[in-house]
Amino acid sequence: MKITEIRRHYIYVPYKAPVAPYWGWNAPCYGAHAVIIEMLTDTGIVGIGETAGRETVEFHARCAEGLEGRNPLAINENLALLRARGERPAAISGLEMAMWDILGKASGMPLYQLLGGKCRDRVNLCGLMGVKPPEEAADTAELYYDTWGFTSIKTKAGRAIEEDAAIALAMHERVGNRVKLRFDANQNYSPADVLELAKVYRQVNIEYFEQPVHQDFLDSYASMREPAGIPIALNESVGDARSVTGIIRANAADALVADIPDAGGIMEVCRLAAVADAADIPCAFHCWHDLGVKTAAMAHLVSALPGFSLASDTTYHGLEEDIISSPFNITAGAISPSDQPGLGIELNHEVIDRYRKKEID
Ligand SMILES: [Mg+2]
Repeated sequence: MKITEIRRHYIYVPYKAPVAPYWGWNAPCYGAHAVIIEMLTDTGIVGIGETAGRETVEFHARCAEGLEGRNPLAINENLALLRARGERPAAISGLEMAMWDILGKASGMPLYQLLGGKCRDRVNLCGLMGVKPPEEAADTAELYYDTWGFTSIKTKAGRAIEEDAAIALAMHERVGNRVKLRFDANQNYSPADVLELAKVYRQVNIEYFEQPVHQDFLDSYASMREPAGIPIALNESVGDARSVTGIIRANAADALVADIPDAGGIMEVCRLAAVADAADIPCAFHCWHDLGVKTAAMAHLVSALPGFSLASDTTYHGLEEDIISSPFNITAGAISPSDQPGLGIELNHEVIDRYRKKEID
């Protein structure tokens, strides 16, 4: 089998309320930027992939160069080639995902089967929201629980301790112990800030405090975990499997938040999950404002990898529309991977054309 052509679609799908506007610690995000890959082959099989739309068009174009004529089933060889050329993990990951989709379609098996079969049928999701005023955050948490059944909910944090404390208390007061709360400060606090905020976070049903200080300060994480008295998760510190060995050696985390573009592909997510699992550190899937293709890949991975025992972050419920033919339906806070070959999804080209980013056409 040979790759004959690689097509890339640069997509922007706006969010609707209550996900929009999605405020991080410093700026709002109004929608999902993604790159959708179609990898055509001489057999007629087309592999589909998706990666975060944060790399430039040039990086994605360069990464795809030289793959035509190669065997898409030789995933390890193709990965080695792209890594040796110094391509970026996020750009590699969309192409590698399409190769897995081709492998599944060629073998007639869903991705979870290729990864060894399911260890769980349902993939629990954690509903994400940006920073909102405390009462609005509480309203949104209640709406998330009532509408989609999320029992894990994550809010952004990191602008001010007082603000984050008020948000946590308001959310907890409203949803109580029915919902586990995650707070993601995106590296914006000092260790002293963490100990201060932890006094409040210890009073709520916290699942974990995510990446409160700089991603390189693993020793700080190790020394603050016990005095903080709350679970600490790392996200920006987590890239490939090698990064996880560093975190384990430093004894720096209670949980890891990992993702395909950061790891550099599905294969590398499997490796890092195995390393974390061997050290008894549970993983949660990160969300890069994903559309349906990557959401499908996430569902297969979480279904097959025992170490992903925590709910997967999602903003999927906020998308104005999805670009796959049969969008996921979130029920009881969860989705299931498709039983169809590969990722088990098809693109809706009409929707893709509608959300294609105009400025780079
Ligand atoms: Mg994060």
